[in-house]
Amino acid sequence: MGSNINWRKNHPQRFRELCSKANKTWRHKIKNELYKLLGNKCANPYNLNHGDFENDPRFLQVDHVHNRGAEDRREIKKHRANYYNYVLKQVKAGSKEYQLLCANCNWLKEIKRKEEIEIERNKKKNV
Ligand SMILES: [Zn+2]
Repeated sequence: MGSNINWRKNHPQRFRELCSKANKTWRHKIKNELYKLLGNKCANPYNLNHGDFENDPRFLQVDHVHNRGAEDRREIKKHRANYYNYVLKQVKAGSKEYQLLCANCNWLKEIKRKEEIEIERNKKKNV
């Protein structure tokens, strides 16, 4: 144990490299597991024609099914690098709150959300 600590002291750069590599691998594993559980493709809530992009993990993002906006951003900030692990735990516990969306659907969801806010605002104005 003692020699281990000495090695760290003598090779701070190498130690940091190993840590960050292990961390990257771990995050990658967590992300893969989470994506797999979420079906590994875009949930496609608007029935768009996705072509080849639907199954490409590079375009996929984890999305909270029900918009919580600020609350979600707070969670992401709180968990930072561990956000995937945090979501993974919830999905494993049976949460249906998360889905995968491609960038296009995510963007469309945001547009629709803003439209809904606008509609609500106009409704209130007309009352
Ligand atoms: Zn999509």
